[in-house]
Amino acid sequence: MSDKQGQKSSAIVVGGGPAGLTAAIALAGAGLATVLIGKRPAKADNRTTALLSGSVTALEILGVWPMCAAQAAPLRVMRIVDDTGRLWRAPQVKFAAKEIDLDAFGYNIENQNLVAALERRARALPLLRLIEDEVLSVVPGEVAVTVTLRTGGTLQAPLVIAADGRRSLCRAAAGIEIDERAYKQVALTVCVKHSRPHRDTSTEFHTPSGPFTLVPLPGQRSSVVWVFDPIDADVIATLSDVELSAEVERASHSILGKIEVEPWRGMFPLVVATARGFASERIALVGEAAHIIPPIGAQGLNLGLRDAATIGELAIAAQRLGHDIGGSDVLAAYDKMRRTDVGSRTFAIDLLNRTLLTDFLPVQGLRGLGLYMIDRIGPLRRAVMREGVAPAAVQPRLMRGEVL
Ligand SMILES: Cc1cc2nc3c(=O)[nH]c(=O)nc-3n(C[C@H](O)[C@H](O)[C@H](O)COP(=O)(O)OP(=O)(O)OC[C@H]3O[C@@H](n4cnc5c(N)ncnc54)[C@H](O)[C@@H]3O)c2cc1C
Repeated sequence: MSDKQGQKSSAIVVGGGPAGLTAAIALAGAGLATVLIGKRPAKADNRTTALLSGSVTALEILGVWPMCAAQAAPLRVMRIVDDTGRLWRAPQVKFAAKEIDLDAFGYNIENQNLVAALERRARALPLLRLIEDEVLSVVPGEVAVTVTLRTGGTLQAPLVIAADGRRSLCRAAAGIEIDERAYKQVALTVCVKHSRPHRDTSTEFHTPSGPFTLVPLPGQRSSVVWVFDPIDADVIATLSDVELSAEVERASHSILGKIEVEPWRGMFPLVVATARGFASERIALVGEAAHIIPPIGAQGLNLGLRDAATIGELAIAAQRLGHDIGGSDVLAAYDKMRRTDVGSRTFAIDLLNRTLLTDFLPVQGLRGLGLYMIDRIGPLRRAVMREGVAPAAVQPRLMRGEVL
């Protein structure tokens, strides 16, 4: 397939966020001419991502991890503390990576550093062409999808990977509906410095309005994801840095000592959303174009990276066999392979979040009992840890450390 400039592109990725960049690197790195079209996001992303071990393995294989490993902090212990103050409270549950023979569950990294490393790797690949532009229209056809850019160019390819985020234009072009539900919750994200070491431990306090999570960054820094009622969001937004530092220290029960918030804050209204299908009309959805889950248990982008690795694997296999890389066989296999992983994680995270918000005593009791059992029963705890880090469902090759 060719574009106006005459360059052949076998695949087009729309969206230059972490999921899109990973998909493009996987494809081009394995020998498929790929074009990535991305517009700069409207505002800088101050979030961090806890990359679980399978994601780190995939980034290692793709040559990205060596470019950002020094900016990531290991997560060796994960702790859940019931801070609901309710009658039936769950015990504190502590998971240690060494219990399942891992050095770390994963690594936490600032999104800006992760994306910078992905971009650096992408620029080094001869088969990957990066276009900074906005896609205005996506029109599926019999043998190719036509993509039109704001600056006027048109490109065609037999496969488009939709990595264009929550309001995906590509998803609409593929005619795929999405089921979306908003929670009455907003997440505040901010990075902090602290006077005590975090000892590679991430702590999730479960409060009646949602989780308050501290995740280690290199040095004496951590990222905070604080989920609360939208009414409180207006109050938090007006706090000075000094006042917010005091609030974060209070919410963290001073476990990291004196807190000093860093300048940038983000606010994210929480939603849960799953596309009704993950591929259609030569368009495969990856990342938040396909699914959005609340930031509990660090799953969102890890799912997105598994999407990217899976479509990369299927398209490369089809290319090597001389098959149509955007044909119905590839798309049906992709849809099938991603459905269980995305569905099970979305269900579990949604359930956990809702049991936090409920005032219904029996549900609170069941949640407490569940966490009690996880705390007390070693094999169950280890099974939960293994499933959290690497799903029982088949992992894509890159997550298993295999090249495409
Ligand atoms: C508070 C919070 C904390 C989180 N923490 C974690 C965590 O610890 N671990 C984890 O795994 N996940 C986490 N997540 C989820 C994670 O941040 C997202 O899954 C991830 O950022 C989504 O990446 P993406 O590439 O799919 O989408 P995006 O990052 O939204 O990228 C989409 C890109 O597409 C571009 N684009 C859109 N439309 C067009 C167009 N028409 N033309 C060209 N370009 C276009 C946009 O500019 C953007 O660059 C968290 C989420 C939240 C809200």
